[in-house]
Amino acid sequence: MGVDYYSYLVVGCSIDEDKLKIPTKVRACDCNVDKIEDMKFCSKCGEEVWKEDYDLIEGYEEDESFLGFDLVYNTDNENCWIAIRKKEVGGYNRNEFDMLDPSDNIEELKAELKAKLEPHGLWDKESFGIWVIQCCSY
Ligand SMILES: [Zn+2]
Repeated sequence: MGVDYYSYLVVGCSIDEDKLKIPTKVRACDCNVDKIEDMKFCSKCGEEVWKEDYDLIEGYEEDESFLGFDLVYNTDNENCWIAIRKKEVGGYNRNEFDMLDPSDNIEELKAELKAKLEPHGLWDKESFGIWVIQCCSY
């Protein structure tokens, strides 16, 4: 246990993770009651009939990746980035891979990311760049 500080170097863009989720409502209890859909509270158990939930949009592996690109979060998952390349810097699990391969063409990688995000309304050219994301686990 303890506090661990580390950061990620990311080539990619920031993304609003909420846009990767579709809000839905689901039943909060399993009681078999007539016309329960019209009720706010269940007449059998007293719980609210509906609770907030969400579905994931296609291609989103929650907390991991979207359309095959890694997702990176800062401390407490407050913000999210989609990475075409990433490197963890510092911490105990420093990886030894170079972030960019000499054959990488940033404009091609950017175009690939844009082509995948644009149909979902998630492409933001202003946020595309190199990000340093500082994290703290505790
Ligand atoms: Zn109930």
